[in-house]
Amino acid sequence: MKRLTERIWYQEADEKTDRPVLGYISGEKSSLMVDAGNSREHAALMLDGLVRCGLPYPRYVAITHWHWDHCYGMCGIDAVSVANLETNLKLIEMTTWEWTDRSMARRIETGEDILFCDENIRREYPDRSRIDVRTADIIFDGILEFDLGGVTCILMKLPNSHSEDSIIVYVPEEKVVFLGDITSEDFHNSTGSHHREKLGMLIEALEWLDFEIGVHGHDEPRSKEYVLGYLREDLELLGEI
Ligand SMILES: [Zn+2]
Repeated sequence: MKRLTERIWYQEADEKTDRPVLGYISGEKSSLMVDAGNSREHAALMLDGLVRCGLPYPRYVAITHWHWDHCYGMCGIDAVSVANLETNLKLIEMTTWEWTDRSMARRIETGEDILFCDENIRREYPDRSRIDVRTADIIFDGILEFDLGGVTCILMKLPNSHSEDSIIVYVPEEKVVFLGDITSEDFHNSTGSHHREKLGMLIEALEWLDFEIGVHGHDEPRSKEYVLGYLREDLELLGEI
């Protein structure tokens, strides 16, 4: 568990089983966790870390997008879960998924899932009967703001290449934005790259947003300049003038 600012903590990503960064914002009234992790065990590591730091149990857990590594830990967190409409529709769909080798192989064929996730799910879950996908308690569309007491969390959908349903969690008082995977390429698409128009709109939105630190789901916290720098480079590679 690392402290990022006065009111924000996070647990680093662990690429062994593709565990993403988990965030925590602590207000005077309540607290919000960013992403639930990829399993009960992953979520438990975060919750234990909070106890060690003397921080209260999170009241809310906000899901940045539907990809398994960000939401399969929901079953291990006794907090009010929050997701946007599209994310929740995918969660509903995934509650019906079966985890036999055959079902998993079929989903790779149909493009419902990708090999990278398949391999990591197998690593994280030696016993796949333990996979327990949950749906959200609060479902919103577009934008949702939490007043945690002296600190605000704004959940906001932005155009992006990675996954249509992606949101950011913006904490204006701390000038921090949790990006989830929103700045990443579209790995669920055969090209595995950015979509020029969507990337352009994402860059504009992030330029407009007043933040100093951007926390990507699979990276260290970075400066705004760094985040925008690599996104502009990506855009140039796509042939933008
Ligand atoms: Zn993702």
